[in-house]
Amino acid sequence: MRQPVVMGNWKLNGSKAMVTDLLTALNAELEGVTGVDVAVAPPALYVDLAERTLTDAGSAIILGAQNTDVNNSGAFTGDMSPEMLKDFGATHIIIGHSERRQYHNESDEFIAQKFAFLKENGLTPVFCIGESEAQNEAGETEAVCARQIDAVINNSGVEALNGAIIAYEPIWAIGTGKAATADDAQRIHASIRAHIAAKSEEVAKNVVIQYGGSVKPENAEAYFAQPDIDGALVGGAALDAKSFAAIAKAAAKAKA
Ligand code: PEP
Repeated sequence: MRQPVVMGNWKLNGSKAMVTDLLTALNAELEGVTGVDVAVAPPALYVDLAERTLTDAGSAIILGAQNTDVNNSGAFTGDMSPEMLKDFGATHIIIGHSERRQYHNESDEFIAQKFAFLKENGLTPVFCIGESEAQNEAGETEAVCARQIDAVINNSGVEALNGAIIAYEPIWAIGTGKAATADDAQRIHASIRAHIAAKSEEVAKNVVIQYGGSVKPENAEAYFAQPDIDGALVGGAALDAKSFAAIAKAAAKAKA
């Protein structure tokens, strides 16, 4: 039985006041909610404050981050390492987000290196994959997702997906309000799982596959009713405690 994971990707949004207010409100909203892992990925500068806020509140919210380097220390100006993230209690690290692929030219191979390095350091990769609008229209979605996953499998082996999280995020649905239908998302999730099952049925059965792309309280229930959708990676709606908590509660209810 897979436990759903609902993670908030705050992207480049935040301030000290916002971090404490949002996490305090979110923690209160989630009181008594079980059956779902809830995680947040603040911008790197605020991971420290987020850790202190969550610890002070005795919160079960999991702390994450939005990126990592492939080194733990050294002459790599501007980067941050798995060891540093661990030092601040961050465990769930987003890699391969389409915004990193697009604005920072991150390749499948580089993302596969990040995946391997996170695993080596005992952290949980939240590994984003997904197709562009043009690829979607050309009917290439399954092939693009398979290629992105194969970069990790070829580098680390299929067993490396054990304990990792895959986030299927059609690029055209991210931040656009143009969410995939629940049926379409389920079809792609099933194809991702089948692709992994061809290498290991056991890994495929256990790996958490989130959907991401304009998830809101209004559409969350429909996604989570699908058998292969195990939670969500949430951008915009994660910046509001009530909306994000409503999505997490929908996941807990649907998978109970
Ligand atoms: C994201 O950034 O991963 C995302 C899914 O954003 P949004 O929910 O705003 O579409």
